[in-house]
This record gives sequence, structure tokens and C-alpha cells, in this order.
Amino acid sequence: MRMDKQAKDRALQILSEVYADARPALKYTTAYELLVAVILSAQCTDERVNKVTAELFKEHATPEKMLTLRQEELEKYIFSCGLYKSKAAHILSASRDIAEKFGGQVPERFSDLRSLAGVGQKTANVVSSVWFEKDAIAVDTHVFRVSNRLGLAKADNPLKTEEQLKVSIPQADWSKAHHWLIWHGRKVCHAQNPDCGHCPLAEVCDAYRAGGPAKKSGHKGNKVPADKGQENRTE
Ligand code: SF4
Repeated sequence: MRMDKQAKDRALQILSEVYADARPALKYTTAYELLVAVILSAQCTDERVNKVTAELFKEHATPEKMLTLRQEELEKYIFSCGLYKSKAAHILSASRDIAEKFGGQVPERFSDLRSLAGVGQKTANVVSSVWFEKDAIAVDTHVFRVSNRLGLAKADNPLKTEEQLKVSIPQADWSKAHHWLIWHGRKVCHAQNPDCGHCPLAEVCDAYRAGGPAKKSGHKGNKVPADKGQENRTE
């Protein structure tokens, strides 16, 4: 069941107040650095990515400089992020395209971003929203889980979730809502054992309200099913 409008408005109000300072956790200074960091963040923590890019970007912070690395050399830098072979191949391929087709600049047009290796819907949305300041909702594992539990969306995949969130959330809040939902997923609405007992959204949350007996007994909300299917991959 999707939330009614009143519950939706209330949920967005609470999220905006609780996570007013939510910002991207990845560190970057250019669009290119952001793009590489987001590619590296698949199935990896932002903290780990920041450690890896702190070293990598010392000498390879542009597509041209990245392309001076052979694939095996780049793999050594990014090994600890996991999926290092495919990530290295994607970063080098995307860097080549940025250098050769886009004049060394990360393209702003969404379809051009999506044409780059390793850039799926989520990554393109993050770069569009965070760097180019366009209205976009990137659905990563946290956004997918939290929005579907809350009832802001009811979908079985990230793309449908994105479409539904664009209807549920006023356009001016799309980019901010992405960060609100990520932070709520990290801090409270964990994939396993969400902390419903301390959740400011419990009063409007579909999943929590569906677990009525847990609410009445003051149980900490583990009636809400753990997230199994989407934790590791959202694009
Ligand atoms: S009440 Fe529970 S399931 Fe609902 S948003 Fe809060 S932590 Fe997540």
C-alpha cells in the first residue's frame, strides 16, 4: 500500500527536519572526481572510497592523467573497493570517452553520462544532481529500501522506484530527498533489524504500521522484514 498524501507530506517534513544537514559523504573537487568516486562506491562504503581516492587523485585526478595508468596499475589503487577489475576497466573506458568525445569534461547531458562505461542510472543521477544541480533522484540501495518500506514507493526495482518517487516528492525536493533517504537508511532504517523503536517516521511508515502487534508491544520494530534482495546492487 502506498502512503496517502497526508502521510507522505508528514514523512517528507520529518525527513527534511531530521536530515537538514545531509550531504554527500564522498569526497571530490571536480565532476570527474565525483564520477570516479561514484563508480568506485558500488558495493563499497563511502569511507573506503574516500581513502582510495585520496591516494588515486594525488596523481590521477583528470581523465588524461588516469589514462597514463595501465589497467593493472589502476587495479592496485582500487583493489580494496571490491569488483576492482570491472571498476578499473570502466574507469579507464569512461576516461577515454571523456577525453576523446567530450573534450576532457564530464558531459552534462544525461544520455551522454549514461553512455559512459560503468555509469548506470544511479550514477548518472548522482552526478546530475550533486554536480550539475539538476533535479534528480538517484536510487541506491538505501533509497530503494527506505522509500519502499515507508510507502513513498511500492516497486520491485530501482527504476520503477525512481519513477514513483518523482511523483511522490515535489520536484524541488528530489535531490535533497535522495540524501535524506540515504542518511535515514544508514542511521536508522538498516537493511537488517531496522531500529523502528527509535524511528521518527514510525507514525507514518507503511511497513511499521503493517506490523501492528509489534508497535503495540513496544517491540523494536523487527516485524519489518529485513531487506534481502536489493542490498548489494541497485543498477
Ligand atoms: S519505522 Fe522502521 S521500517 Fe519504517 S522507516 Fe522507520 S526504521 Fe524504517
